[in-house]
Amino acid sequence: MNRVHSDQLYEEALKHIVGGVNSPSRSFKAVGGGAPVFMKRAQGAYFWDVDDNRYVDYLAAYGPIITGHAHPHVTRAIQEAAANGTLYGTPTELEIKMAKMLKQAIPSMDKVRFVNSGTEAVMTTIRVARAYTKRNKIIKFAGCYHGHSDLVLVAAGSGPSTLGIPDSAGIPTSIAHEVITVPFNDAPALKEALDKWGDDVAAVMVEPIVGNFGMVMPKPGFLEDLCRLSRQYGALVIYDEVITAFRFHYGSAQTYAGLDNHEAIAPDLTALGKIIGGGLPIGAYGGTKEVMEQVAPLGPAYQAGTMAGNPASISAGIACLEVLQQPGVYEEMERLTIKLTDGLTGFARQYGIPLTINRIRGSFSTHFCDHPVTNYDEAQDTNGEMFAAFFRAMLNRGVNLAPSKYEAWFLTTAHTEEDIDFTLEAAEASFKEIAK
Ligand code: PLP
Repeated sequence: MNRVHSDQLYEEALKHIVGGVNSPSRSFKAVGGGAPVFMKRAQGAYFWDVDDNRYVDYLAAYGPIITGHAHPHVTRAIQEAAANGTLYGTPTELEIKMAKMLKQAIPSMDKVRFVNSGTEAVMTTIRVARAYTKRNKIIKFAGCYHGHSDLVLVAAGSGPSTLGIPDSAGIPTSIAHEVITVPFNDAPALKEALDKWGDDVAAVMVEPIVGNFGMVMPKPGFLEDLCRLSRQYGALVIYDEVITAFRFHYGSAQTYAGLDNHEAIAPDLTALGKIIGGGLPIGAYGGTKEVMEQVAPLGPAYQAGTMAGNPASISAGIACLEVLQQPGVYEEMERLTIKLTDGLTGFARQYGIPLTINRIRGSFSTHFCDHPVTNYDEAQDTNGEMFAAFFRAMLNRGVNLAPSKYEAWFLTTAHTEEDIDFTLEAAEASFKEIAK
């Protein structure tokens, strides 16, 4: 596949944009380096690059594009919003409509606040939890990604129950020491951490269904234990649903039918982003009335935003949710995903490639290993070189995946049976190539 123009643009980008990309996940560093593909157009399930190659897209912009690229209903909403002015700096009726839609779909949220990214949403839930509990520490789970604010860019220390160490330069150790990292799906480790630091833990933060080291379901009872233990020690529960909200059904992980006992697993605060902006920048957080009333102008926890709740993002978000309200959309995404994952499993077996697939409705992750993946250690213990080779083989056959072994494949409402057949044909040839 000829990508001469992409390569030239990458050289040019390197001169002006740090690393040539505006988010490190877009670089090809995790799959052996080289020029990422520069796209010029996207429609439905497809991308076209600057050399006019077509790709079936499973990146979905890391999640938000669940209705496919340039969905007409979403595009129309953005055009109409733009024609009426993109930013007011005043309240609008649209924000109320969207807040009501979110509350109806995620009943643990009595009150909502819009921000501009998932990072902001998560960062603020932590501030609110600290303000409410008057405590400082946060417990998070290894491998869960919660955006790039200081407190959540912290890795586990050397033991299961140690204070964190910074995961990025520029984060003071003193901040990292406010964070405790424990393994996902491990309630005893959580209990151990709470036993040690419980008096000063403001919140336990988790992706209730993980999307950042593959797609990983909580083990039965894990979220119940997490909520029970947190409350026992006076800590709030924060769900980071930036990926999971509206991903598996019209609602969030906390109300997903795959998890029982919805009341017992309801969090105090929820962070949202991605899908709820229909492809424009957005974030939101919400929670119980009592906790949310900590936020300014009602309470002492300050949070603000010039762009927050802007009519363009809110209109795109409402339109996206309206598409997702149509009957059968999630069922169809799931049907096609099952066909795709069944096919991938079969071809991997045929060519002797160890492959574990974690599928949750219309999304899944591919782990090149022959063991289950239920936590970050198991996700790390997979063959990254084989994933990199598969990624490139698929790209060269017109299938766009995220350039990291930890990222998910996302289907959209735009994918068709033909796209799945095309992808499976590419996958068979790719497995054959990498098995050599
Ligand atoms: N939380 C989760 C679970 C995420 O996956 C991400 C981004 O991938 C974020 C938070 C940060 O969101 P944003 O990139 O919009 O800042």
